[in-house]
Amino acid sequence: MFRPTSHGWIEVICGPMFSGKSEELIRRVTRSRIARVPVQTFKPSLDVRFSNGEVVSHSLMKVEAIPVSSAAELLRAVEDATAVVGIDEGQFFDMELVAVAERLADAGKQVIVAGLDTDYLRRPFEPIPTLCGRAEFVTKMLAVCHRCGGPGLFTQRIVRSDALVVLGAEGAYEARCRACYSSEEAEQPTLELAEASWSER
Ligand code: ADP
Ligand code: MG
Ligand code: ZN
Repeated sequence: MFRPTSHGWIEVICGPMFSGKSEELIRRVTRSRIARVPVQTFKPSLDVRFSNGEVVSHSLMKVEAIPVSSAAELLRAVEDATAVVGIDEGQFFDMELVAVAERLADAGKQVIVAGLDTDYLRRPFEPIPTLCGRAEFVTKMLAVCHRCGGPGLFTQRIVRSDALVVLGAEGAYEARCRACYSSEEAEQPTLELAEASWSER
């Protein structure tokens, strides 16, 4: 197994909701763990949808994760011996995540960040787009369009809310392809938040 020594790097896994970003992050960090490479996985503490101490995918794959409230706190929590740093829901971190990821990579670590590249209005969802420009490897994930089964690259919010973040649930968001995404529906969703069928994930 190749292990980074003086050279670290950054990997970004991006795409819409339901595209398998968390699954792919879990797969990569689990692989390192099997190879006995020291791994630490982090997630923003605002995202406690499933479990506080784990990253859990929509398909219920999971891996142990440390909740942190900022990129600075993440940096402080990374141990010297750690060779692989996994970070889920990167879009919920501040812009400082870019500098933190670069600092960890400069220190010889493999940094894997999963996150949404655009928000529900298809606007760039920082810091992921900037991180893509600073990453050696970028993997764009596609979901299955909930409407037609085509390549889902956007996240459509189907409930009414002005907040940028309505923590995810199948009832609040759908993956949509280019043809099925609707700007009008994003601005004027038909469902009220309370009417949406909430589920635990
Ligand atoms: P992400 O982190 O990108 O939101 P996850 O890794 O948590 O995605 O979940 C991916 C899994 O979600 C898929 O393997 C599949 O089991 C499930 N899933 C549910 N809806 C969809 C969809 N529309 N397209 C693809 N996968 C979906
Ligand atoms: Mg995810
Ligand atoms: Zn479609």
